[in-house]
Amino acid sequence: MEKILIVGAGFMGSGIAQVSAQAGYRVHLMDIQGSITDRALKDIRWSVEKLAAKGILREPSEKVLARISPEKNLSCASEMDWVIEAALEAEELKRVIFQELDSISRPETPLATNTSSIPVTRLAENTRRPERVLGLHFFGPVPLMGLVEVVKGEKTSPEIFERGAAFVESLGKTPVRVQRDIPGFVMNRIFSAALREAVDLVDQGIATPEDVDVGMRLGYGWNVGPFEIADNAGLDTCARVGQAMRSLGAGHLAPSSNLMERMVADGRLGRKAGKGFYRYSPEGKRLPWKNKDNQ
Ligand code: NAD
Repeated sequence: MEKILIVGAGFMGSGIAQVSAQAGYRVHLMDIQGSITDRALKDIRWSVEKLAAKGILREPSEKVLARISPEKNLSCASEMDWVIEAALEAEELKRVIFQELDSISRPETPLATNTSSIPVTRLAENTRRPERVLGLHFFGPVPLMGLVEVVKGEKTSPEIFERGAAFVESLGKTPVRVQRDIPGFVMNRIFSAALREAVDLVDQGIATPEDVDVGMRLGYGWNVGPFEIADNAGLDTCARVGQAMRSLGAGHLAPSSNLMERMVADGRLGRKAGKGFYRYSPEGKRLPWKNKDNQ
């Protein structure tokens, strides 16, 4: 059984761990605190059991869950066939993680990053195997979304790029190949352009988030509106992506307004905090931010 280390057990890392375990991989899920991996394992159990109840799982949920082990550090990287980094979107942090992964893991092990905006090439520079570093950009919630961008860094070898695409297919997902490493890759550039306009229009008081989301669903056939997507992704992560776009010379893909930064400072991080552009009931139901009980 092939072994995978996932670094970071937040929204994305826990989802990647879940789909990897469902696909039959042995998964090691690492974060900086045991309480974070404990919470991730709890969330994964909830999700796997929900899929089992719907008859979507091919085997008993306990079998899937037994393939995931929590880790407190990166030492197990030495035994891994794949490593996927899904830690906080901060370049300095990821640089240190890649240096450590490079020194611990076998030289042939591919090192993937799930970054939304940091160039794969810059992360690869922190290793002695830049030809084995690539982007595997999953979409959240990972158990529900079928797409993964496979991103070729400047030095990623064609063999590793194709192995990345085959790995994505082994998870039951569809790879989209991004042949050149540009800020935001392809899908985030397109989404960021839409979100930039949506955030600026809301901050100027021209429309509410609910109206923009309804408009994009009914007018353009989106399944989910931009503010619903942003709340699910986490407004802290969206704000970091905006900052990264600005610093990488793609500022035209970041909002002009600092609305998301103000919301983050106010604890409105999106679904995970129970409040963002919307608020959420304890059962996770999405509600408008303002109504007669909550002006
Ligand atoms: P998150 O905040 O939910 O999780 C990040 C996790 O990283 C946290 O649990 C944190 O404790 C952990 N972490 C911090 N320092 C660490 C370290 N040194 N070692 C290991 N773990 C560490 O964020 P997320 O939404 O899961 O995003 C993770 C990555 O995935 C980011 O690079 C983000 O840009 C990318 N991404 C996010 C989305 C999304 O929809 N949220 C989509 C695609 C890609």
